[in-house]
Amino acid sequence: MMAASWIRVYQATNNLEAHSLKGMLEHAQIEVALSGENLAAAAGELPADVLQVSLWVPAAQADRARALLKAYESAGEREWCCPTCGELNSGAFEICWQCGETQP
Ligand SMILES: [Zn+2]
Repeated sequence: MMAASWIRVYQATNNLEAHSLKGMLEHAQIEVALSGENLAAAAGELPADVLQVSLWVPAAQADRARALLKAYESAGEREWCCPTCGELNSGAFEICWQCGETQP
């Protein structure tokens, strides 16, 4: 059953980001559809990760989705301290540049 209306809430910079955000939203019980992915597969010649993918959610869940995405974006700007070596890393990096530890 298709919901009445879907709203585009986010334009991911790549496939990987789109899928991790989709997972995050689904974890919060929000239904998510991706667009652009099939296009990437059809294009064939282009690596899928360079094509932009949009995240769509049902209109009724758009506000919650936007709040979660906003939290995700602000988390990306926050610095984090590596639990293994104590190095301070930019929030844009998911692994410690010093020792390679994954961001907790
Ligand atoms: Zn480290």
